[in-house]
Amino acid sequence: MKYLDLKAITSMHGDEIGEAVQRVVKSGWYLLGEEVRRFEEKYAAYTGTRHCIACSNGLDALYLTLRAWKELGVLTDGDEVIVPANTYIASILSITDNALRPVLVEPRTDTLQIDDSLIERAITPRTRAIMLVHLYGRCSFTGRIAAIVSRHGLKIIEDNAQAHGCRFAGRHTGALGDAAAHSFYPGKNLGALGDAGAVTTNDDSLAATIRAIANYGSSRKYVFGYRGRNCRMDEVQAAVLSVKLRHLDADNARRREIATALIEGIDNPLITTPDARVWNDAVWHIFPVLCPHRDALQQHLATRGVATLIHYPIPPHRQECYAGDYLTMPQGGLPITERIHREELSLPCNQVMTDDEVQQVIAAANDFSFHQPYAHT
Ligand SMILES: *Cc1c(COP(=O)(O)O)cnc(C)c1O
Repeated sequence: MKYLDLKAITSMHGDEIGEAVQRVVKSGWYLLGEEVRRFEEKYAAYTGTRHCIACSNGLDALYLTLRAWKELGVLTDGDEVIVPANTYIASILSITDNALRPVLVEPRTDTLQIDDSLIERAITPRTRAIMLVHLYGRCSFTGRIAAIVSRHGLKIIEDNAQAHGCRFAGRHTGALGDAAAHSFYPGKNLGALGDAGAVTTNDDSLAATIRAIANYGSSRKYVFGYRGRNCRMDEVQAAVLSVKLRHLDADNARRREIATALIEGIDNPLITTPDARVWNDAVWHIFPVLCPHRDALQQHLATRGVATLIHYPIPPHRQECYAGDYLTMPQGGLPITERIHREELSLPCNQVMTDDEVQQVIAAANDFSFHQPYAHT
């Protein structure tokens, strides 16, 4: 079984998607048109925000938000942004691309999200924002974080690449902070047929600034207020996303059903599955387990026909591109982050899996045993 069968995912709503693509092909209008405008309206309404600015991908959505805050004078070069140390590299790239400083904070081992008890000691006079990454599809926002940002006057930017449709106390992720970046990379819970992304926010001037920067820095044709970029979403992707948005809640419900079955079914003492109560509201972009013999487990599952992935094998602070002192780290290093990168394995968990396939994953996981190799003396 594949880790994620994108062809099957598209086929689930193949007719509707085909019609949407054909409509755009025949219209002759491919950029800055009605499809994007309609998707923006629907996604803003779904998320519960006043604005949605469609753009090229998730990394650009993160970049544009921080860049717009710089243009608006909210951020300046060298300001610090707090970010979970175990996130995907894109979160960090968006910070360093804007000449801001990432300050890495450890996650908790139960939620795998930023540890809110460690945030306050990472705050300095240069701290301006916290980037909350809802990793694996579990919300990382907490009441304690809300109190910290209001006490210290910080902005929240959500990285919602992995948690479309997730809720915190009835509100969607993407509406919990000052702005949120979304990725619609094909493999995400809400995925396009190529690269796409969006920013959601309730802030009118931030929205207008992002929209201009994403369109060469222009809000009026041939007039350039910013040294902008081209980060636009095309009409085909918008039409596809409008179809897929209608099915997002149902897709997430099926992911939830499968995750529950995996949690209940896997009882191998060598494998730690997420705690169902702690992960109650997750939308399971990824189903992460921890295993001290992760590579052996991955091999075992492969021989049983179960493909898995690692999210992620190398943490950002160990990447070559950040050799030197770009990243600010706690004095004791990042042992929890490193443990997660050593032990994490992502099991298949998506809406096109059959019940039989779910049982196959459970059986293969429960069959895993580990024999210490003989030590050579
Ligand atoms: C996928 C992802 C991104 C980047 O999105 P792209 O659309 O691939 O640029 C950013 N952050 C996280 C946490 C992601 O998983």
